[in-house]
Amino acid sequence: FSFVHLKKIKMSSIVAIVGRPNVGKSTFFNRLIQKRDAIVDSQSGVTRDRHYGYSFWNGKDFTVIDTGGFMLGGEDNFEKEINTQVMIAIEEADIVVFVVDVETGINSMDNEISRLLHKSNKEVILAINKVDNSKRQLDSTEFYSLGFEKIFNFSAINGGGTGELLDSLVSLMPEESVIENNEIPGFAVVGRPNSGKSSFINALLGIDRYVVKDLAGTTRDSIDTHFNRFGFDFKLIDTAGIRKKSKINDDVEFYSVVRSIRTIENSDVCLIIFDATRSFDSQVKNIFWLAARNNKGIVILVNKWDLVDKKTNTIKLFEEEIRKELEPFTDIPIVFISSLTKQRIFKAIETGMMVYKCRSKKIVTRKFNETMLPIIEKTPPPAYKGKYVKIKFCTQLPSSFPQFAFFCNLPQYIKDPYKRFIENKIREIYDFNGVPIRIFFRKK
Ligand code: GDP
Ligand code: GDP
Repeated sequence: FSFVHLKKIKMSSIVAIVGRPNVGKSTFFNRLIQKRDAIVDSQSGVTRDRHYGYSFWNGKDFTVIDTGGFMLGGEDNFEKEINTQVMIAIEEADIVVFVVDVETGINSMDNEISRLLHKSNKEVILAINKVDNSKRQLDSTEFYSLGFEKIFNFSAINGGGTGELLDSLVSLMPEESVIENNEIPGFAVVGRPNSGKSSFINALLGIDRYVVKDLAGTTRDSIDTHFNRFGFDFKLIDTAGIRKKSKINDDVEFYSVVRSIRTIENSDVCLIIFDATRSFDSQVKNIFWLAARNNKGIVILVNKWDLVDKKTNTIKLFEEEIRKELEPFTDIPIVFISSLTKQRIFKAIETGMMVYKCRSKKIVTRKFNETMLPIIEKTPPPAYKGKYVKIKFCTQLPSSFPQFAFFCNLPQYIKDPYKRFIENKIREIYDFNGVPIRIFFRKK
């Protein structure tokens, strides 16, 4: 009833920024992700710690991770922690940008990081930061002794030199980053370490014999598992990644984030596994945010429900708590499961399929106008600076997830509250449960 198959998927590259503290990693990171993130975050109203984000250069999209952002900051274990981040970056990222500081010159931590990077076969770019002026150009030659081939001077603060650095960076990325779509719904099973992802997959299979063969060193390969069960045809994305217990440290958040990014990007619907015995903490929220910002369908699976004392914790109370954390997303389905006792495993998949259908839904333009225009007429956008916005026509855009365009005379005068009003109406009328949607106002 099920089989494992191997498939290569081209994914957008993951770039990890490594280096010791204070060399300017987060300054550089912010410069890379600034614009796009700000736009999307203001749309969704979601705030979070910015340790990873999306960037693009010369027509190539990529994901950037600031490894420094994942450090817990304990002075005692600094070196050990940095080494762990670098090891994970080597294992999981496609390209490593190693940032050093021309002001301070080479120190022992730089040497240690260099040693780790040289031991790997990873593509590394040595980025010498704080080269703010030409005098510092001369100082930077010291770093040539670290033995890297691709070396760039730059200034994260004023942007000098970043163009050449990025040219070199994206030239290391494959031409296309197209995700193969073969029409079978793809589910990503994501969540914190130990939330029960592998147990959930085993529960689906009904047997424990499922072991993915060793595929060390093939981080660009993703193994999906195709299921045909309960009358549903679907695949689980990157089951190898879920099953693979890192030899470094499975509890390192950075590790689970990188894995989640890969899995989420290739899916249609994310089944976010949440451990009912833990709090809905920032790690789960980050995964949730990643799925939402990638416009994936979302289902929350509250796992280990068998361990919860039902006298003090009703489903209703539990659900209310989680809904608060998911704001402003109000209609994400939440299913209470136990991977151990196999409670509601069928329901979980059924809900995933339902969300998949919502996400693929196409609304006929004529009907959409017939429904939405009278609503708009009844509640038009508020006048702005004495000017009235007239919305004349609307349509769903052809894309893999729901996006809607409203054509009007003065789109710049439409503010967020009105956008939310329209989104709420669309959600009320059409079923988009668990699906992020986007709305644009454009000049006709
Ligand atoms: P991180 O710990 O590696 O993430 O480093 P930060 O990005 O927090 O930067 C550490 C310090 O270096 C901050 O005070 C920054 O303002 C400063 N800094 C970062 N980039 C530059 C630069 O290009 N030139 C100069 N002069 N200072 C910089
Ligand atoms: P993963 O790291 O997310 O893949 O988590 P695992 O599937 O390895 O599960 C972590 C631990 O939680 C294991 O000891 C599982 O036996 C346990 N576990 C997983 N699901 C459940 C559940 O529904 N109920 C209970 N009681 N334990 C569970």
